[in-house]
Amino acid sequence: MLDDGVAVKLNAEKENMNSKVLKFLLVVKVLGNKISFPMCSVELRRHWNKFGNFHMTSLGMNWILCSFISEEAMDEVLNGGPWYVGGYIVGMDKWSTSFNPNSFNGITAPVWIRLPCLPLYCWDEENITRIASKIGVPMYVDGNSFRWGKHEFVRVCIRLNLENSLPKGVWIDGIAGRFFQHIEYEKIDMLCFYCGKVGHDKDLCPEIKKVDVAAKVSIKQENVVSIPT
Ligand SMILES: [Zn+2]
Repeated sequence: MLDDGVAVKLNAEKENMNSKVLKFLLVVKVLGNKISFPMCSVELRRHWNKFGNFHMTSLGMNWILCSFISEEAMDEVLNGGPWYVGGYIVGMDKWSTSFNPNSFNGITAPVWIRLPCLPLYCWDEENITRIASKIGVPMYVDGNSFRWGKHEFVRVCIRLNLENSLPKGVWIDGIAGRFFQHIEYEKIDMLCFYCGKVGHDKDLCPEIKKVDVAAKVSIKQENVVSIPT
């Protein structure tokens, strides 16, 4: 208590320590169903303890707030990966006051994509990177992709913006003309086959709900009998 008898004097040293901790925060979500917080906690510790101690808090709706001791540690996690929990991809972003648990705005994840049956004349780093950049920001190409005959597909790791719908493929214009290249996404569960977005199943798709509401409104309007004046 201060001398004036009104306010409580806080411990400044502790306050500074708290502010420091609150600076290096990531919000994290595992893109899989039925992954509990304790399971996330154990697996993420196994991956990230090498960057220094960090703290985890459950935010509900499968979101986890992770606070790191330094900016370097946070960046190692944010720019590294792909990270997996229970075999599923982990999406993340720096925490900010505008964080909304109902949205994937700003949330990204490194994801391995496959280009099955890509014509052999496209199999070079330059062209593979060009194709992959249509889906996300290319991070690295699987070196095995270049051992012809050993693999049936090219594999590229890209940073994916999880707010976007995931395209089923990419149109490519090459020396032999134009063709559609299919894309496969590795280890993403909770992919909605209606809107193509991650984070929910088709049963919970907000796009379907919007259509349902619109349909109900139009049915109601049809049932309105206008009174002749
Ligand atoms: Zn959907």
